[in-house]
Amino acid sequence: MSKPEVSNPSAVLYVVSTPIGNLDDLSLRAIDVLRQVGRIAAEDTRHSRRLLQHHGIDTPMLALHEHNELQAMHGILGMLREGMPLALISDAGTPLISDPGFPLIRACREQGIRVSPVPGPSALIAALSVSGLPVDAFCFHGFLPRTSAARKRKLAELQAAAGTQVFYESSHRILYALQDMLEVLGGEREICVARELTKQYEEVMQGKLQEVVASVAADSMRQRGEFVIVVAANTARAEDGLSMESRRILGLLLQELPVKQAAALTAKITGEKKNRLYQFALGKR
Ligand code: SAM
Repeated sequence: MSKPEVSNPSAVLYVVSTPIGNLDDLSLRAIDVLRQVGRIAAEDTRHSRRLLQHHGIDTPMLALHEHNELQAMHGILGMLREGMPLALISDAGTPLISDPGFPLIRACREQGIRVSPVPGPSALIAALSVSGLPVDAFCFHGFLPRTSAARKRKLAELQAAAGTQVFYESSHRILYALQDMLEVLGGEREICVARELTKQYEEVMQGKLQEVVASVAADSMRQRGEFVIVVAANTARAEDGLSMESRRILGLLLQELPVKQAAALTAKITGEKKNRLYQFALGKR
């Protein structure tokens, strides 16, 4: 367990979510906190100045980005230990979500410095909420690898994964990433591509992978901006009527257990018919 938080009540690091496009998506409490803290640690101070000016916030900023994170962290920890409340923001959305800040929060926890969230926008949650795909269980992967070979390897690992899968993508790679998905996951998979959320050219494209890739490929405007890709779990059933997920679980259990036990346990986990699983498992042995 990390250290209990120190008693100095003013030594707080607020982790403040900021808009992902529309500057008015900054909460009233976020504005209050950003006005009251002694310093705001920002990923790019020039970028954040626009947001602060828009809301009449003139708190001094200091830079904390991926290239100076460890150095800047020591100064920030010193100010916190002296009792100065600080805020951490990133260029957009929630800090630490594919953004800097993890070493700082970790160090605060280890040193018993209070860390408090001021929640708000995050592109992944915004995209999930409008995707029309199941959101009861999902896994966020941040950015996919840059090279096609590594990307396809990662996608192959996730081919039969349970739950909805969420990725961030940039305009440079959106078409390549979608084309790799088409190749590895197949055209029938349901997908949602959320582009430029909360901005002027916001667009949410949902459908089968083959349809969405075709429509992005056909229109270069659709390859511009910032993207969240939401991919539904593989619900396809093979000819034996078993879902890909049931086959995956059964395959794993068969590595450790006798057929009967593996089939029974898979039936309990997935709700599939025990006999069907048993017959499939016999074929695998
Ligand atoms: N911390 C941010 C958050 O909470 O969403 C994410 C930062 S990450 C460096 C930036 C990526 O988030 C973009 O490349 C894009 O994939 C996604 N993103 C950010 N804003 C977006 C928007 N308005 N619409 C769609 N995707 C967005």
